[in-house]
Amino acid sequence: MNAQAAILYEVKKPVVFEDVEVLEPGPHEVLVKWTANGVCHSDYHLITGDSPHPLPVVLGHEAAGVVQKVGAGVETVQAGDHVCSSYIPSCGRCWYCIGGQPTMCALRDKPRWFMHDGTSRLRTRSGRSLHHYLQVAGYATHTVLPEQSVIPIRKDAPLDVVCLVSCGVLAGAGPVFNRAKVQPGASVAVWGCGGVGLNTIQMAKLMGAGKIIAVDVMKQKLDWAQEFGATHAVDASKEDPVASVHALSGTAGVDYAFELVGTQKTMEQAFNATHRGGMCVVVGVSPAGTRLSIDPGMLLQQRVLTGTSFGGGHQRTDVPMLIDLYMSGKYKLDEMITRRVPLTQLNEAFDLMLAGEVKRSVVVYD
Ligand SMILES: [Zn+2]
Ligand SMILES: [Zn+2]
Repeated sequence: MNAQAAILYEVKKPVVFEDVEVLEPGPHEVLVKWTANGVCHSDYHLITGDSPHPLPVVLGHEAAGVVQKVGAGVETVQAGDHVCSSYIPSCGRCWYCIGGQPTMCALRDKPRWFMHDGTSRLRTRSGRSLHHYLQVAGYATHTVLPEQSVIPIRKDAPLDVVCLVSCGVLAGAGPVFNRAKVQPGASVAVWGCGGVGLNTIQMAKLMGAGKIIAVDVMKQKLDWAQEFGATHAVDASKEDPVASVHALSGTAGVDYAFELVGTQKTMEQAFNATHRGGMCVVVGVSPAGTRLSIDPGMLLQQRVLTGTSFGGGHQRTDVPMLIDLYMSGKYKLDEMITRRVPLTQLNEAFDLMLAGEVKRSVVVYD
């Protein structure tokens, strides 16, 4: 069948929109018609070359849609099911999945730009094989994914909203309850208050954090942070954020610092902003080759420096849980979406994201 897709042929060039051929789903694969895909920074790292990736590739990894057809042996979904994409698959059978860390699933060791058999299900009209970004390829109207890369969700949830849970929402909120396990009254600082960090702030509030200190260099993002639950705002372009967080915490550092920017400087700042025995959780994706410089004496003071992928918990239950919170009015998602755009405006949507003018844009298909 045919689909429209956004293809990255060359780094540092705009993505190109083309009709592509979608092959039939193989065993343990599903054909999905996407409804929407949120515009996330991780795709942009491929465009700049900061995340080296084989090309050409169909981007997109924050998608929601409806299963059209399933291949042989598929047991967990059927045609008509609504699904969120899972850019980290979980097989449910490997050492990690059985041991309770499905975001570390052994399937991550295989190249995640093809199906598990090492081949593509997307081709250009001239027959050229296309890579599937993170086995999701959400910037296509239709695509094929491994069964392990879709998460069934309730059918009454609006797909053009809950697509955000497939990356930004879980990536930002998950570390708060899965990794830090923030307790009522705890002090929290959040570096980076864009589409992911706002979820960290929102979940910290939901968990009952006392102080929630937002750190960013853009006033607009600090304003958003306060709308989503931040109690204090620190403009890192005007003041030393580590000193300010130390002072605001009242305890010479926060219990938990979350880093969602992905630079050496902000990761070091976040770690240095914790008090003795505190924890810094890195969520931001950094360019390949990034290294940190920390004082090991701070580790002897029992600080924890850690990180998470895709929320650091159980994606197959965390995604439906967050959607339930949204559907019951306890979690803001509508307010996360600044713009809805057609696929052909994806390059412009990346520009607005870089300018910091949107919380999240969502590409919506007809
Ligand atoms: Zn993402
Ligand atoms: Zn597994």
